[in-house]
Amino acid sequence: MDSLEEISERVRICADCPLSAGRTRAVPGEGPSDAHIVFIGEGPGYHEDQQGRPFVGPAGKFLDELLASAGLKREDVFITNMVKCRPPGNRDPLPAETAACSKYLNRQLELIKPKVVVTLGRFSLAKFFPNETISRVRGKPRKQEGFTIFPMLHPAAALHRQEFRKVIEEDFKAIPAVLRETLASGEAYSPPPEQLSMF
Ligand code: URA
Ligand code: SF4
Repeated sequence: MDSLEEISERVRICADCPLSAGRTRAVPGEGPSDAHIVFIGEGPGYHEDQQGRPFVGPAGKFLDELLASAGLKREDVFITNMVKCRPPGNRDPLPAETAACSKYLNRQLELIKPKVVVTLGRFSLAKFFPNETISRVRGKPRKQEGFTIFPMLHPAAALHRQEFRKVIEEDFKAIPAVLRETLASGEAYSPPPEQLSMF
């Protein structure tokens, strides 16, 4: 898979895990191939499954507000998910599903080489820090192999809880400074060995 377009084409016809059976449309993710920042959510919900685009429902509307508050435009960042097909009834993705789908996300990251990866919620956090909890690490950027992981709450979880909402709003406002610091360090994304895709 040599381009983001090729990844998207593969995802749209993928049947590598049981989630393919229940989807309307797969949601590969979208954004520029040279994005400095990648946001990783959990998986498509109802609206995303209908439209084939990430974060277009209520959580997506909130994400748009958060991006704007950080001075970011949606079209300048890459937005994707741990699993590219909607789990039935929005249940949590199963470990086997996340594992089957990781080749796509890993290749997206290899091609984009972002400076900052923002994990939204506990599933994308676990990709990078399997033994951490959100409450312990959210809002704390961590340098890793030339890029920065910046863990945050999931916008859907924060949307209707005033205390979480304040937290995610504060964390988003820190993104520009985190990006500046990472850019100043002059390093480039190099994926950890376990993330290198198999093909
Ligand atoms: N929640 C997610 O995790 N991802 C989406 O794309 C939409 C809602
Ligand atoms: Fe393929 Fe991922 Fe969809 Fe499973 S969730 S069918 S691995 S694209």
